[in-house]
Parts: sequence; C-alpha cells; structure tokens
Amino acid sequence: MPKGKKKTSKNPHQNYRQPKLIKESEPSAQPKPHKRQMKFQRPRGMRDILPEDMTYYDYIYRTTENILRSYDFARMETPIVEDIGLFARAIGESTDIVSKEIFSLKEKGGGKLALRPEFTAGLVRAYIENGMSSRPQPVKLYSLGPLFRAERPQAGRYRQFNQIDFEVFGAEKAAIDAQVIQITWRLFERLGINDTVIQLNSVGCPECRPAYRQQLLDYYRPYANKLCADCKKRLKANPLRVLDCKEEKCQRVAANAPQIFDNLCDDCHTHFKQLLEILDELDIPYMLNGKIVRGLDYYRRTVFEIWPAEDKKSELAQSAFGGGGRYDGLFELLGGQPTPGIGIGLGVERIILEMKERGIEPPARSAPTVFLAQLGEKAKKQSFRIFENLYKAGIDTLESVGRDSLKSQLKQAEKKGVFFTLILGQKESVDDTMIVRDMETGVQEVISQEGLIKYLKERMEIREKEKSKEAKKPVKEKEIEKK
Ligand code: AMP
Repeated sequence: MPKGKKKTSKNPHQNYRQPKLIKESEPSAQPKPHKRQMKFQRPRGMRDILPEDMTYYDYIYRTTENILRSYDFARMETPIVEDIGLFARAIGESTDIVSKEIFSLKEKGGGKLALRPEFTAGLVRAYIENGMSSRPQPVKLYSLGPLFRAERPQAGRYRQFNQIDFEVFGAEKAAIDAQVIQITWRLFERLGINDTVIQLNSVGCPECRPAYRQQLLDYYRPYANKLCADCKKRLKANPLRVLDCKEEKCQRVAANAPQIFDNLCDDCHTHFKQLLEILDELDIPYMLNGKIVRGLDYYRRTVFEIWPAEDKKSELAQSAFGGGGRYDGLFELLGGQPTPGIGIGLGVERIILEMKERGIEPPARSAPTVFLAQLGEKAKKQSFRIFENLYKAGIDTLESVGRDSLKSQLKQAEKKGVFFTLILGQKESVDDTMIVRDMETGVQEVISQEGLIKYLKERMEIREKEKSKEAKKPVKEKEIEKK
C-alpha cells in the first residue's frame, strides 16, 4: 500500500482471495527456507490436465477433426469471452446457465463480459457479424475448447470443461438433422464406444408449442406443490423444462405428462417423420424420448442427446455425453436474418470418463527412431548441433540434454522403444565420433559424426526391407522359425 494511504473499505481487490499460507515442515539438515511459503491452489471446480490425460484429449480431437473434415466442416474460433447480454438473450435469462452459472467480468468502461458457457451463441453472433450468410450455404463449422459454468463441483462436472461443438447454419431440411446425428454416432463408434443410443424428441415450433405448453400447465397445476423449488419457478418461465428435471419427485409427476409428439403441427410432424426415416435407413439406434427438451429456449423441432447404452450408465457420470438440436429462431433473436441452424455440444471430459471406464486407451504414438544420449559438457554442447542435423534429415529423434547420468538416459531410451541409441561420450566428442547401439541386438558400432546420417538411413532401409520380407512370409514358415 502506498505510504500514507489509509486502508478503506473501497478496496478494489476486496474480492481477491488470499492464497493459502502453508507452513512447510523442513528436515533439519536443509538450509532454512523463508519462514512461510505460499502455495497456490487451482480455482474451485477447475482442473489441471496432466500430460497422461492430454493424450486422451489429443486423440479425441484428432478423431473428431478427421470425421468432421470429411463432412466439409471447417474449424472456427470465437473469443472465450463475449458480451454477457449475448448469452442472456440467446440462452434465456431464466435458464440455470445464465441465472446461476455464468462467470462474469466487469470491463473498464462499465460493460460486462462473460466467460462463454456454451459455443452456439458465440458462433451465431460471429456468423451474423462477419456476414457469413453471403457464403455458399450451408455453412458448416466446428469449435473445440473450454467452456465455463459455475456449477456445484461434483464427479464429472467441472467449472471449466471442454466441448466438441459442431453446427450447420443455413439448412432446414430434416436430412441435415440426420447428418448431425449420424456424425455424432459415428464419432463414438470410432472412439470405441459403439453402443450409444440417440434420445430423440421434437419440441415443435412457435406455431404448435404454445398449445402444448398450455396443456402442460393444465396438467401440472394440481401437482405444483409436489415439484422441487426450481421446477416451481420453471413452471412459470418454461414449463417444458419441468419435464427433464432430474429430481425423483419431479420425474414421478412427469411420467404421465402429455406428450409433444401428439401435439406437433403438420410441418413439424413431417420434419420429424423424415428424420426418423433417414435414421432407420442408416441403422442408427434411437429412442423417442418426450422428456428431452434441452434447457435452452432457442430450440425448435429436433432435439436430441447421446447416451451410453442403458446397462453401461454409471452412477458416477451424469448420463448424457452431449446434446443438441435445431434453433431456427436464434439468428433473428440476435439481430440476424432468419436462418435455420442445428448443432451439438459433446462433453470431452464425459467421453474420457467413459473411455477409462471401458479400458479404452488412446493408441500409443509410434516410438521415435533414435535416442540421443550424451555425457560431459563438451558432448552436451555438440549434441545440440547433432540433434538439429538429425531433425533436418527427417530422422525422428528424442534428445536428452536435461539429463546428465548416462545410466538414466539409457534407461529412458529403453523405455521409449527407440531403434538406435546414439551415445556421445567424452572420448567421442573429442574424436568427432559417436557410438550407435542397435537396441534390438545390443550391438554397438563407432561411427564418424560426419557419416552418421548416411549410416542411420542405410540401417533404417535394411530394417524396413527385413520387416516387409517378414510380413510376406507364410504363417507356417514363421511358426517353424519360432520353434
Ligand atoms: P450442454 O451444453 O449443457 O447440453 O452439455 C452438453 C454436454 O457437455 C453434457 O452432456 C456433458 O457431457 C458436458 N458438460 C456440460 N456441463 C459440464 C460440466 N460442468 N462439466 C463437465 N462436462 C459438462
């Protein structure tokens, strides 16, 4: 605090949480550290993704991008923060996401920003703002990355989580709904989760939904006292959302509620029927589920979620992998031209949880060809140049300048499963040579540094030839050799 300045209650940092001060107990032999050390903790409900988990993210994203690109989707990024009003308008003031879970930030000028709790609103805003309606339609986009919701942290639910999101703007036909569902289902199949079920519903349109809404209100009126506190509020703001409440007492009442399928107008009915016909044709397993309404006000017609097969649902994980639907009214709501849109958001952490429960591991990356080990200061310095040369020659090499002990470097080389380990010791660094150890046979040779790349390339070529000869041998011959 500047000298002479009095501490007042108007401290701009009054919401700043002091990091925990933790007294470390030190072994007496150690030099005395600062009296107190500060340890920071990650924010509540947020996680560090460690390298071993990052391999799942990489694999899921790689698989997703491969599929989406083959359906002509292009990646797009919008800011992680948007004007808070965008979410209030697009998602609805009464939804949990906006009313309870938004992380907001004050701008210097007085405006308010929010960390994005979902992708669709930002993508639609960007489509309108960048005049993307003048591009050939439909526009197919996807985004991958973090979203933020201040939810009560619990197993599998975080305040920062990641979604795969893809959207089709400018296409209203049921065939597009079918394609979005087909891609979703195929993605899970590729990831090895091949028994998912699509839970499908139609929430109608502004023409047929009001009458259904009224039917629901009439149905729920006598049961209003039996609903949870949230549903009592929902009943006023959006009675459809009472249907998908997870509270048991609300589900009991919902069991006999009128079904929207019986109340769709002709156009919505035809759209839904066409969608089901295509899904039947594609053999995609689905279940009609009148309780799927999605929490967001902008959905029209098709809404769906993707769930694990009934017997695989776990207590630990919230059941849905993700969900989405059609939101033809959203563009006008956000100041654009009437434009149809459909999309889905899939929870990456939820998918990883499922992969782990089923023992599905991301395929291991192929081992590098060469491990470059060094011993002594001169060798370490030389190894920088040698590594560069190997890299330029396209030889996949793992370096090890961070380690000093040769023993630990060789252990590491073994663990990584490389074909050759190059050892640059004190003697070799003076002689401009290098030891090349074949990791399969254990045979070592001394090679001049100048001839190293040529030597490695020749050895790799021989290896490749032997491998392809081996692959061509009839099975019987291989068995005899083994004996
Ligand atoms: P939503 O955007 O609410 O429809 O959510 C789609 C999917 O995102 C859900 O089915 C979850 O798999 C995932 N998801 C939503 N919220 C969270 C959260 N707080 N933590 C982790 N995953 C989430």
